[in-house]
Amino acid sequence: MSKKYKPCSHCHYRREPFTFTLHKKPLCKICSIEYERVCKQCHQKFPAGFGTICTTCHYEKTFTHRLELFSQHYSTQIQPYFIGFAYWLKKRRGVIYSAKNLQKYVAYFNKINTLTNNLQTFPTYKQLLNFITDATHKKNYLIHIYLNEIGIITIKKNLTEEYTNHRLIQKYLQHFKKGTLSYNLIHNYYNTLLLRLQNKKTTIHSIRLSLTPAVKFLKYCQYFQEKTPTQYALEGYLFIYYGQKATLTGFINFISNTYQYELDIKIISKPRLKTPKISHQILKDRVIKMMQNPHDKHFKEAYIFRTIIGYFHWVYIPQNVFLSVKNIHKAKDGNYYITFCGESFYLPNKVVKYLLSRDQ
Ligand SMILES: [Zn+2]
Ligand SMILES: [Zn+2]
Repeated sequence: MSKKYKPCSHCHYRREPFTFTLHKKPLCKICSIEYERVCKQCHQKFPAGFGTICTTCHYEKTFTHRLELFSQHYSTQIQPYFIGFAYWLKKRRGVIYSAKNLQKYVAYFNKINTLTNNLQTFPTYKQLLNFITDATHKKNYLIHIYLNEIGIITIKKNLTEEYTNHRLIQKYLQHFKKGTLSYNLIHNYYNTLLLRLQNKKTTIHSIRLSLTPAVKFLKYCQYFQEKTPTQYALEGYLFIYYGQKATLTGFINFISNTYQYELDIKIISKPRLKTPKISHQILKDRVIKMMQNPHDKHFKEAYIFRTIIGYFHWVYIPQNVFLSVKNIHKAKDGNYYITFCGESFYLPNKVVKYLLSRDQ
């Protein structure tokens, strides 16, 4: 097998093409001569080049092998749950998915195993959330569903929500390095929110919602020379994320009142799109030059986005707006777009490919 060949159109192994189909697709030697074989195990027909057993039986073997291997990690108390979960997953998602992904669930079962040893009993749902920091992470969701289905834990939605918020808040608080300005601003803001929580004037959910844009805005300020919150940076931020104005207001007012930053979020109105100040031809020349030199470090990300949006959409991106590849989304139809000012702007696939290749 070698990477240099295109996969055989029948068995999908990368082998030297021996013949081609009527539609000019490659066929390897085995598939050309034998075409199909009968699976030794399930007696179904399958592409000859695949081997002696079919894809499903192949993954069945892999699944059994991995299950045996992984389940050795666990104590006799946890092992049956892991095995039960693996078969439950197979039934639910099929053998191919389960064989490929079983490993993803090993780490969380390890943590359950340790916790069970410490508690001397299988943890309750609340204990799982309380003691395992990433318990509410979505990769562990299926495990909870399974344990809930067999009645070993009881999922409580309000607990899930509370701990998800809690986990995200902890993540935000650790986002900046200790001792930095951003770290202090976020932590002090969080402390005042906690006081409000104690007085029942807010909820853990709204605290999380308030911290999200606050962290994002402080990160955004790093693009600027001062690296501190300024009205100029705030206007640029809201140009991209105008929808966050309401949830960001609390934080902006807090830092203005507590630290005397001269920020006024009220006066910033919904940004209006303007046309570029240079000619379409200049923009076109710049786009071509950039795309011909994908590894030229002189082109800064913000400049590239300004040029591309200008050229393809005839929209002006102000100097305090820093768009990045993180603002690119993929639509359901496979096309890419970027959003700012509450609108979506499509980007040609070729351009996105260029932007992503630059990033590495
Ligand atoms: Zn083949
Ligand atoms: Zn088979």
